[in-house]
Amino acid sequence: MTLPAHAETLFDPYAVRAEFPILSRQVNNCPLVYLDNAASAQKPEAVIEAVADVWRHSYANVHRGLHTLANEATEAFEGARSKTAKFLGAAGARQIVFTRGATEAINLVAASFAASLKPGDEIILSQMEHHSNIVPWHFLRERQGVVIKWVPVTEDGALDLAAYEALFTPRTRLVAVAHMSNVLGTVNPARRLTEIAHAHGAAILLDGSQAAVHLPDLDVSAIGCDFYVFTGHKLYGPNGAGALYAAGDWLDRLTPWQGGGEMIAEVSETGVVYADPPHKFEAGTPAIADVIGLGAAIDWVNALDRAAVAAHEHGLLERAEAGLKEIPGLTIIGRTPDKGAIASFVVDGAHPHDLAQLMDKYGVAVRAGHHCAHPLMQRYGLTGTVRASFAAYNTAEDVDAFLEALRKAISFLI
Ligand SMILES: *Cc1c(COP(=O)(O)O)cnc(C)c1O
Repeated sequence: MTLPAHAETLFDPYAVRAEFPILSRQVNNCPLVYLDNAASAQKPEAVIEAVADVWRHSYANVHRGLHTLANEATEAFEGARSKTAKFLGAAGARQIVFTRGATEAINLVAASFAASLKPGDEIILSQMEHHSNIVPWHFLRERQGVVIKWVPVTEDGALDLAAYEALFTPRTRLVAVAHMSNVLGTVNPARRLTEIAHAHGAAILLDGSQAAVHLPDLDVSAIGCDFYVFTGHKLYGPNGAGALYAAGDWLDRLTPWQGGGEMIAEVSETGVVYADPPHKFEAGTPAIADVIGLGAAIDWVNALDRAAVAAHEHGLLERAEAGLKEIPGLTIIGRTPDKGAIASFVVDGAHPHDLAQLMDKYGVAVRAGHHCAHPLMQRYGLTGTVRASFAAYNTAEDVDAFLEALRKAISFLI
C-alpha cells in the first residue's frame, strides 16, 4: 500500500465522525470509543437515509415488475450492482452476485464448485482464514473427500509463500485465502498468490471482507483472481448485503446452488431453464433495501479520499501500537510491515475477555476471543486475543482513551 505524503491533510476524521449518529452516544457514562470495526462498522446518515428512503418511497419487489414502484426499486437495486462492480474493478455488473454477506458468497462458490470436484481433489486454505472461509470447504472434505491443505503463517503473521507454492499438486483445484486478515491485519500479496495459483492451473478465491474496507486501490481485474467476496456491513453498509465477484465466464460455468424464484427463465413439470448470470445465483427475493443501502455505502466511501483514509487509519494503528509496546507483558500478534489498521494483542496474566469487559466500563468497545479464526489461534498457541480495529471515523483521542482504559483494566486484573 503506497500512501502519498500529503494524504493526512486531505481528510478530516472529525467531519466524518459527525456523520455517524451512534458515535455521539454515551456508554457507561463515557463517550463511546468504538474500536470493533473489524466485526462490523457503524453506519453514516447517508446509508441510514438511503435504506429508510427505500422503505418510505420506492419499495416493491424487484425484477419483472410492470408498475412504477417495482421499476424504481429494480433500477436502484441494479444500480447498486453497477456501483459494486465499479468499486471492485470488475469488468461489468454481470460479474456481481448479491449475497447476504461474505459467508454466503463463499458458501455459494463452494456449493457450486462441489459439482466438479472428485474425491482426492485438493483445496488450499491458509492458517489465517476466518471460519467463513474454512467451514464451507470442510463440507466438501466431509461430504466428498476433498483434501484441504494449509498455507502456514509465519511468526510475524505473513503467509509463507515458499510453503504455499510447495503445496500445489496436479490435484489442486482451488485456493481460498483472505486478502487481509481480520485478526493480524496482514495484507496478503493478492496478485502474487493469484499468479502462483494460475501457474498451477488452480482457481483462486480471495476473501476481501477486510481488504474492501481498508485498501484504497482495490482492483480485482488487476489482481486477476477468479472470485472475490466482501460483506457490506463492514463497509459502513447494512447487514444482510454483500457480494461475490466472479471473473470471466465462471458464472456461466458454475451450477446454481439455491433454487427458487428470480433465478429461472422457465420452469415446467419436466425441467427448468436457468436465468442468465448473475440472476441464476440469486434465488428468492433479495434483501432489496439493504442492497440499495450497500450501493449508498459504496457512494459514501468513494466520496472520501481513500488514500488519505488509509493513511489516517495507519497513523491510528501506529499511535496505538506505540502505546501497546510500552505495556509490560503485552505481546502484539501480527507484525507484518504494511498491515492494515488492526491491532491484536495478549497480556500475560490477563484473560482477553476480562480485559474487554473492563474496558467497556470506560466506554471502549473492543473485541476479545478467537475472532472466528480457531486455526490461527492454534497456530499461536492462544485461546484468544484482544483486538482493536480502526475505521475512518476513529481519532487520536479514541486511541488515547483505548490505551488509558487498557492500562486501567490491566492494573485491575494484575
Ligand atoms: C467478517 C469476515 C467474514 C464474514 O463476513 P460475514 O459478514 O459474517 O459473512 C469473512 N472473512 C473475514 C476476513 C471477515 O473479516
